[in-house]
Amino acid sequence: MQLDEFGIPAAAHLIGGKWIEARDTLPLTDPSTGLAMTRIGKGGPAEIDAAVAAAHAARAGDWGRMTATERGRVLSRLGRLVETHSEALTRLEAADVGKPLTQARADALALARYMEFYGGAADKVMGETIPYLDGYTVYTLREPHGVTGHIIPWNYPMQIIGRSVGAALAMGNACVLKPAEEACLTALAFAQLALEAGLPPGALNVVTGLGAEAGAALSAHPGVQHISFTGSVATGARIQAAAAQNVVPVTLELGGKSPQVVFADADLDRALPFLVNAGIQNAGQTCSASSRILVERPVYDELRERMAAAYGALKVGPATDDLNVGPLISERQLGIVNDLLELGSDLNVAGRGVLAPGAPSAGNYAIPTLFADVPPDHRLARDEIFGPVQVMIPFDTEVEAIAIANGTDYGLVASVWTADGGRQMRLAKAIRSGQIFINNYGAGGGVELPFGGVGKSGHGREKGFEALYGFSTLKTVAAWHG
Ligand code: NAD
Repeated sequence: MQLDEFGIPAAAHLIGGKWIEARDTLPLTDPSTGLAMTRIGKGGPAEIDAAVAAAHAARAGDWGRMTATERGRVLSRLGRLVETHSEALTRLEAADVGKPLTQARADALALARYMEFYGGAADKVMGETIPYLDGYTVYTLREPHGVTGHIIPWNYPMQIIGRSVGAALAMGNACVLKPAEEACLTALAFAQLALEAGLPPGALNVVTGLGAEAGAALSAHPGVQHISFTGSVATGARIQAAAAQNVVPVTLELGGKSPQVVFADADLDRALPFLVNAGIQNAGQTCSASSRILVERPVYDELRERMAAAYGALKVGPATDDLNVGPLISERQLGIVNDLLELGSDLNVAGRGVLAPGAPSAGNYAIPTLFADVPPDHRLARDEIFGPVQVMIPFDTEVEAIAIANGTDYGLVASVWTADGGRQMRLAKAIRSGQIFINNYGAGGGVELPFGGVGKSGHGREKGFEALYGFSTLKTVAAWHG
């Protein structure tokens, strides 16, 4: 299949710079058609052991000896290779995740940009000198953790590899990557490009397989010194518990129930596409999806009508048709979303998208659905849905808007739409969230912008320079010289 373009098999693990044929395999399904695509490796504790050993060998060898500038050059070369192969990566991601081509292409280019950013940043992370007692010189060194584990989900494989593996490599860690069993082809292709860019063997290892086997083995491995995880709250809690046994730090990014708060003085023409796209991008399977639209009463009816019209124009179909919304990742995910939609049978449906004629009947298509007048304590207004579903909630006062915005267990992203500068600043402080956007949502996804959550959205930050601090540890050196 499409991995041929990268000259590698799908059913193999990358360990110590070599593609090792998988002893056992799993099927991979195309979410747009429901048809089998290929088979991938089903790695477990033995493969994870070998990968962790290879990573330690890389740290003790060529990779560990490279200067920060040399590491940066490798990542920059890798970024250029990703860009050169961006169309092949786009097709792979579209087939594997079911992502419409335009959205998959944006992810491939974001991966290239992450490598460019972290390539440039690798030799710009510095320590400090600290004024201290007479006769002492004190300074700090930023050092890699050592071997880092990266357990990533199926919704944005390329972007999440970019922000976690990119930053970890920039700091000189050696990585073991466990992609999701539902979508891992671009992880394999990326690893091959990394070898071609000159990344020493063992600096990046990839083991595919099930979460309960390969993922659990990686998160509990005593040879791993930091774990980065993106995915569900339940799995994140399990991974943190496993890492705690080895007393290693974890970065957890666990999704959200992100609100957009629209006041009556907002520029609704500008807001409308952000409000809708933030809910339906990647079929709503986005950790930072905005699934709650809070609207001040005077413009509520107008905005409900305009959003309903936008929903009516949304077309759903196969990734290769490049419509607004593709399929969900799996039959299982479609079942989760449909079960949650059942909970909305008592609610007003304000708008729905349209399934494109000819969409394969075995594809995992969920119809985008906009619910209106939803009570803030309704489960659809509190639980993460991870499908193309948004709820609209009216409010009367700023205080009420803040209470509703903060009324879930999550806190990943929020936006505030208002022309009032004071209100912008007040809400930016009052809303409990890792990122706040004012009169926009997502700011174009900027790789430079630290990202992560509070509450059940997780802890730790990836992206930007902040990730480089997370993927390193600080050593204090105090020298007495009299
Ligand atoms: P998941 O969290 O179980 O899977 C994510 C990754 O964790 C995959 O690589 C998986 O193999 C691995 N994993 C699973 N169990 C593991 C374990 N015991 N130990 C170590 N690794 C393990 O997510 P899912 O089951 O694919 O999706 C379920 C729900 O999770 C979705 O409906 C959605 O709400 C949420 N989710 C969130 C994100 C996000 O970006 N925050 C991404 C995917 C899914």
